[in-house]
Amino acid sequence: MSAEFEHRDIRLIPARHGKAVRLAKGEAVQVVNLYGTQVVDCWAYNAEDVSEYMCMEATRVWNQRLNPQVGDSFITSQRHPILTLVADTSPGVHDTFMAACDARRYELLGCTEPHRNCHDNLFEGMAELGVTLPHGNLASFNIFMNIQVQPDGRTLKTLPVVTRPGDYIILRAEMDCYVAFSACPQDIVSIQGQGDNTPRDAELRILTAGFPQVKLQGAWVPEGV
Ligand SMILES: [Zn+2]
Repeated sequence: MSAEFEHRDIRLIPARHGKAVRLAKGEAVQVVNLYGTQVVDCWAYNAEDVSEYMCMEATRVWNQRLNPQVGDSFITSQRHPILTLVADTSPGVHDTFMAACDARRYELLGCTEPHRNCHDNLFEGMAELGVTLPHGNLASFNIFMNIQVQPDGRTLKTLPVVTRPGDYIILRAEMDCYVAFSACPQDIVSIQGQGDNTPRDAELRILTAGFPQVKLQGAWVPEGV
């Protein structure tokens, strides 16, 4: 199971639901895939000004990578680092391309009844902390999600999670921030692992010390600039 680091809180993300935490700069959140099967969507916001949000587009520019690996940071809409990936015991398969699921997505998938969804979970998780977001954001960091770039370099293939039970990542806060998570309720498109595509619980640990550290990298600029 998950390694023990110094922590001040452990929170469950119940299957199909959302949970948000507030981190002080220098703290971290460990996201544990308890069953090894679950996609966990993630968003982050500057705690001083929630109009500044973690931005996948700016993150890809900063890291020059499709998806993050240990040592890479996540960048806000104001081009400030907000989180850094400091540990990852999973196979390192995550996604920054795919929109979070929302009510409309499930309509398009043929649902005639309301279906729980990550985008609503974002708002629910933040509301539990008393925070009202100024707008939505479909561009989540999709932890453990297996979106495979095909050999042509441009086509994407949606596949189930390849994580093992207890695998985790650790995200370090580079500013005081809120980090919201959703244990993705998707049970129509086959993205959860182990073949049954059933959403399951995941776990958050708020870490204060003793977790791996990496140096914060600056923005990418081309050689010669
Ligand atoms: Zn989802």
